[in-house]
Amino acid sequence: MAEQKTIFARIIDREIPAEIVHEDDLCLAFNDVNPQAPVHVLVIPKKPIVSLAEITAEDTELIGHLFQVVRQLAEQHNLQGGFRTIINTGDEGGQTVPHLHIHLLGGRSLSWPPG
Ligand code: AMP
Repeated sequence: MAEQKTIFARIIDREIPAEIVHEDDLCLAFNDVNPQAPVHVLVIPKKPIVSLAEITAEDTELIGHLFQVVRQLAEQHNLQGGFRTIINTGDEGGQTVPHLHIHLLGGRSLSWPPG
């Protein structure tokens, strides 16, 4: 049986809608459906990498690119005052969608530590 597509793979393939804020050959960025801050964007690779625990040396450039896009999006969303990036990994890390994603949060003061 074919492996089930994740919700993010379905967003990449335009099978379900999302508020897309950036797209290029390597990645897609869209607004989180359940925002935890005024700005809450998810940046994902088009390559179906399950999590940060699964990256290989081959992905080094891709991971750097994702963070360049995060920086650009932070600038576009006027987050000069600061922002937070989060990558949840695996069950204990709080990851709910098994497709690597970087959360970009900003637009309010964020407390620390997380739960
Ligand atoms: P994580 O818990 O780190 O795996 O984050 C998954 C994130 O995906 C959560 O913040 C969800 O709100 C978000 N999410 C789930 N489904 C969608 C969707 N269809 N469109 C946008 N964001 C989504």
